[in-house]
Amino acid sequence: MSELAERFETHDPGEKQVAEKIRCDACPVMCYIADGRTGACDRYGNVGGRIVRMDPLTILDHAAETGLAMVPFVAGGEAWDGELVNTGRRFVTAIGAGTTYPDYKPAPFIVSQEVEGVDLVTVVTEGIFSYCGVKVKIDTDRHIGPETAVVRSQGEAIGHVTTGEYGSQMLSLGGVHHLTGGSKSEGRATCDALLNLCNRKPVELSIDGGATVIVEAGKPPVIDGKIEHRMRVGCGSATIGMFATQWRGLVDEVVVVDDHITGVVSEHQAGKVLGWQDTGIKIIGRRSTPGRYFKVSEPGLGWGGTSISDPLSILGEWNAKKGARPGLSLLMVSTTGEQFAYYELDDELRPVQKPFPERLQKSVGLIEDNCEPALCTVLFIGGAGGSLRAGVTENPVNLTRSVQGLTTYVTVGGAPVYVWPGGGITLMVDVTRVPEGAFGYVPTPALVAPIEFTLRRDDYIRLGGYEAEIRSVEDIVAKGGEYLNPRRGTGAAAGNPWPPLAQLHRANGAR
Ligand code: SF4
Repeated sequence: MSELAERFETHDPGEKQVAEKIRCDACPVMCYIADGRTGACDRYGNVGGRIVRMDPLTILDHAAETGLAMVPFVAGGEAWDGELVNTGRRFVTAIGAGTTYPDYKPAPFIVSQEVEGVDLVTVVTEGIFSYCGVKVKIDTDRHIGPETAVVRSQGEAIGHVTTGEYGSQMLSLGGVHHLTGGSKSEGRATCDALLNLCNRKPVELSIDGGATVIVEAGKPPVIDGKIEHRMRVGCGSATIGMFATQWRGLVDEVVVVDDHITGVVSEHQAGKVLGWQDTGIKIIGRRSTPGRYFKVSEPGLGWGGTSISDPLSILGEWNAKKGARPGLSLLMVSTTGEQFAYYELDDELRPVQKPFPERLQKSVGLIEDNCEPALCTVLFIGGAGGSLRAGVTENPVNLTRSVQGLTTYVTVGGAPVYVWPGGGITLMVDVTRVPEGAFGYVPTPALVAPIEFTLRRDDYIRLGGYEAEIRSVEDIVAKGGEYLNPRRGTGAAAGNPWPPLAQLHRANGAR
């Protein structure tokens, strides 16, 4: 028996071993695979002359939700012995299900379950996504590159820097233009980076004219070799608003240095309301409204996402007529509280750095305490409004309408998704809510992602579903499907609702 055959004990041991290569038709690449070998994507192999899906079909156990112990029912690649370990709620995901390619045939699994007296159906398939990408949120103030700058992986352009959000830098990666519209190596590098990001692996990205960032979903970003620990508490103006009372009576002036909006407490509305005296300070930057300044520096990796390492470089001459005087005290701090310094004006009204006073430690510590941990967030975005719909219904537009009309609930590996309003089925999912290793690829190149559609059985029949293909969870656990792979039970991620129940409540609410 070949090594692969040994891994799949569900396979009939008496089956004839076929020496010739056989064709996998699960994607347009159409690999010819020799016995004991796998195809180009490693997802399918030839086991004794049969095409086998190499990863097990993943069935989520929501026992924790129902208070039952979670027991993996296939361990260490052993064959399923047919015994139900517990009666917790199960959900057949599309992970390891196989695809519907070349699209006309019914999805690999169409599963029925009765919940609270209502028949529900879940259609399960692994979608091949040529139109897909990821949106990456990197919690940092640091300037990692200008908007629209090219983002590269393995030297190839795979996306761009997009609009920054509050306390975070954003990347838009992948998409059909990088996957299919450039050179072969660009498509490969894009597919490779997307696959690793979706499977929560670290990926090094370099930004033209900017930084090198290691992105790993759910982990802190590493920017030019430095781990980012904290996300800023707010912009400079917001920081003034939040902490002005903490500084009252302890210091004469506070400047919160921020690349976007630098705040000055004596001029800011928060300081005015508290009766803060004028200090004659001058900020070099574009004054927006009192105590709020734009563009005090170029963006960079310095204080508050600016390029400066010496905060005094954003100050002009102090004006004695407007309140500057020898001995006036000044706190300068960044939006994460990581950088801070204390100064007093000398007889020539020049700020001179002094040891940081004990009385201000608490307020700086409070800024740090209010910062959330810096993380990378990776959202997979894909278009499911194409040919995979034919595996759900004979009339594909009915599925789109049903998803848009909230009659059908969409999940990716059992994780809830956000479906964009408007045409098509454009969905986004947080990859940390999807079971690990759920994403695959084919060398066309495209990503493979699990996708499940859950709806009431009567609605499914009405939209032209494949009624004759509907099977029970127990039958699928016991017998598997066309690709002969074992079934694997695993605990559902905490916080992911049991999808059929979510759909039941939604469908009932919509009626
Ligand atoms: S790349 Fe994978 S899915 Fe496509 S034909 Fe080859 S083995 Fe099958």
